[in-house]
Amino acid sequence: MTIDFKAEVEKRREDLLADLFSLLEINSERDDSLADAEHPFGPGPVKALHKFLEIAERDGYPTKNVDNYAGHFEYGDGDEVLGIFAHMDVVPAGSGWDTDPYTPTIKDGKLYARGSSDDKGPTVACYYGLKIIKELGLPISKKVRFVVGTDEESGWADMDYYFEHSGVKDPDFSFSPDAEFPIINGEKGNITEYLHFAGENSGSARLHRFTGGLRENMVPESATALVSGALPDLADKLAAFVAEYQVTFELAEEAGKSKVTIIGKSAHGASPQSGINGATYLARFLNQFDFAGPAKDYLAIAGDILFEDHKGEALGVAHADEKMGALSMNAGVFRFDETATDNTIALNFRYPKGTSPEAIQTVLKKLPVVDVTLSEQGHTPHYVPMEDPLVATLLDVYERQTGLRGHEQVIGGGTFGRLLKRGVAYGAMFPGYTDTMHQANEFADVEDLMRAAAIYAEAIYELVK
Ligand SMILES: [Zn+2]
Repeated sequence: MTIDFKAEVEKRREDLLADLFSLLEINSERDDSLADAEHPFGPGPVKALHKFLEIAERDGYPTKNVDNYAGHFEYGDGDEVLGIFAHMDVVPAGSGWDTDPYTPTIKDGKLYARGSSDDKGPTVACYYGLKIIKELGLPISKKVRFVVGTDEESGWADMDYYFEHSGVKDPDFSFSPDAEFPIINGEKGNITEYLHFAGENSGSARLHRFTGGLRENMVPESATALVSGALPDLADKLAAFVAEYQVTFELAEEAGKSKVTIIGKSAHGASPQSGINGATYLARFLNQFDFAGPAKDYLAIAGDILFEDHKGEALGVAHADEKMGALSMNAGVFRFDETATDNTIALNFRYPKGTSPEAIQTVLKKLPVVDVTLSEQGHTPHYVPMEDPLVATLLDVYERQTGLRGHEQVIGGGTFGRLLKRGVAYGAMFPGYTDTMHQANEFADVEDLMRAAAIYAEAIYELVK
């Protein structure tokens, strides 16, 4: 049986866009200040979840709302279950939009709205993929369970709750329409290790405070130190330093002390090489003065070892896997106060198979630090081989419909693709697409959404027929 999935999508173009608009009009960002028992992440995510389940009910599927944390609907019968995992929450709109982020607007073939590409657009494209199978009455032998969460952008507490309370057995295999084509079949492990330092000084220069970075998974854009004592030619040396590197500085007085700020460039913590870590640059600059004691250890580690050490080579923890690539390290949060007994540097690692948080910790403990501890959150490397029929089928459909070559991809970021052992992420961004996720003027190319819907239709059918 040959089905023209693209033509089937075309027939449903207006319906698809209407359903998508109704979801995009809902601001579903997490808002803890309005959260309660009925609205675990605030009212917005719940509203979007209800809307999605309402659409599924309209189309005749049995649905289940798991206490407003997540929900699902099912189609078909069979012992084996294909899970599809998407999400209804969005990150805050932020500023800088040319259109209202919750008034979906199509301009020059692009659909602008918060959530258009992450993840409501891909979710609805995939939803229509399945709807086509249902409406054509194609014969299938497995069950499809389409799950949407409401807390993907923060801590995945939606899925923790869902898996515990959904009352159904876990799907056997799954994909998540929340990344890019051709596929994401591997995700590196993700762990944060904390270096701990005492707070004293002994030297003719004194470090009173050192702060940089907002989150472990972001490259610190800037860092600020409060220093005093012997700092000869501080202003001249700062000017020479920024002339040598691609950073800028601010110098101010605070109660007779010098406040030095170095400004670099922020980036996602999974790609530290894309940023300029203001904190390691600041430490490198300060290192030339006569600090001693724990303050010196702090600056020396930050400025000598962590400086531009995106692969952990100077740290001695570098590791690469043939399939999964190399470990990456982001020195994300710096907190030092001379009056505090516990000062820290948070190092976020994305690591492939073949190393472990414990192995990294053992190496880090050899540094002049008081202790090294591990974050409670984190996850181990995830990888589904090319030979797995799930991966093979998805790549095959992608190649057939696009004429492009399918290939495996491993990323340092995280998607719902790793919720199950046999899980991957699949679409909906195409190669060469401008990634506007989490940014102002987020958009989805309307034709890309239609192309994706056709791919999802054929892919789901191939997986469950
Ligand atoms: Zn997403």
